[in-house]
Amino acid sequence: MAVEFPILSERLGTTPRITSLLIKPASAVCNLDCAYCFYLDREADPYSALPARRMTEETLERLVDTYLFYSYPNSTFAFQGGEPTLAGPAFLERLVKLQIQHGRNGQSVSNAMQTNGVLLDDRWCELFKQFNWLIGISIDGPEPVHDLYRFNKQGAGTWRKVMNGVECMKKHGVEFNALCVLSQANVEKAGELYRFLRSLGIDYIQYIPLSEFDGLGQPLPFTITPEQYGQFLCETFDLWWPERRKVRIRYFDNIAEALAGQKPGSCTLHETCDSYVVVEFNGDVYPCDFFVEKDWKLGNVNFESWAEIARRQRRYQFAAKKTIAHPECQVCEYQAICHGGCPKHRHDPGRNFQDLDYFCTAYKMIYRKAVEPLKKEVERLTGRHRTAAKA
Ligand code: SF4
Ligand code: SF4
Repeated sequence: MAVEFPILSERLGTTPRITSLLIKPASAVCNLDCAYCFYLDREADPYSALPARRMTEETLERLVDTYLFYSYPNSTFAFQGGEPTLAGPAFLERLVKLQIQHGRNGQSVSNAMQTNGVLLDDRWCELFKQFNWLIGISIDGPEPVHDLYRFNKQGAGTWRKVMNGVECMKKHGVEFNALCVLSQANVEKAGELYRFLRSLGIDYIQYIPLSEFDGLGQPLPFTITPEQYGQFLCETFDLWWPERRKVRIRYFDNIAEALAGQKPGSCTLHETCDSYVVVEFNGDVYPCDFFVEKDWKLGNVNFESWAEIARRQRRYQFAAKKTIAHPECQVCEYQAICHGGCPKHRHDPGRNFQDLDYFCTAYKMIYRKAVEPLKKEVERLTGRHRTAAKA
């Protein structure tokens, strides 16, 4: 097969390894029709002419076999969509069988899935429990909040069905956490949201701020402002702080990780965009879920090795986008934590990598509030204050 992009020579140094996969067995196809979803109907969607998209058994086997080899001894498979449960529970069974068949002695394999929860039933939950999957459930808050934007193809709310899924996971003892999109429906309800998610027994929460714009660069009605997001984070921080040992809020964890000198879990706080890749239903690979676009395709697992894909020049080009710091970031006291935010948000609203991250104001608000107490906490836990005192 013709190689589409050149492979870089040794002069660029060590190839950044691909450390995790985000796999889309049903591509961007979903059983819901949430008002704010950015996946479908995108002009740049490379598969827009294909209404039905499913990963074949051949692609699945090739993916599992080659990635287990490449990522030995620790392999992480994360499934997302669209809606990954559209692939059916038999897909999960087949996947686990292949992992057992192709895994090597001593290999640790973990699986996770992000789902809207609507199709979860006893069969799914038994499998999640049996194979120890970690599940992320998309839930935006109590019923009136959630149902404002998250509806099915008929325009009906989905909260009740999501709650059935939550109950089913609880019944089977499945480990799960929450992914909550912050829109105009809930961004001013930090306390209500936090208490609601905690009332479901959820102790790991990821908030995703929503920023979508029309072709003229105007915010769509559900898009939140940077000030709203900043205020939300500050209020949530106050609620979370007394229970910080029991509850994990991904963004606060990530700031603490950065302060502790570790690589944060979220790519938004990384120096470059190259920690994970997206694998589409047909094996095509892209550097980021926000950039599943023809111009950013890195290769295909059916025809190329992971080492070849990892070394694609386009991957370096994408990774480097984030390193072109905006003048405001160059003099920002938080640059070493923030690294300029996320290029997706730097695109907002004018699709220009050179722009400042749309949510910069929010980041500064929460850093101003959270960095000092988190730094003290990290120093206390790592014993660094004692080392500093002795020196
Ligand atoms: S563009 Fe944003 S979401 Fe994508 S890899 Fe970079 S930081 Fe992560
Ligand atoms: S807080 Fe704003 S100015 Fe500072 S690094 Fe982040 S995006 Fe740049």
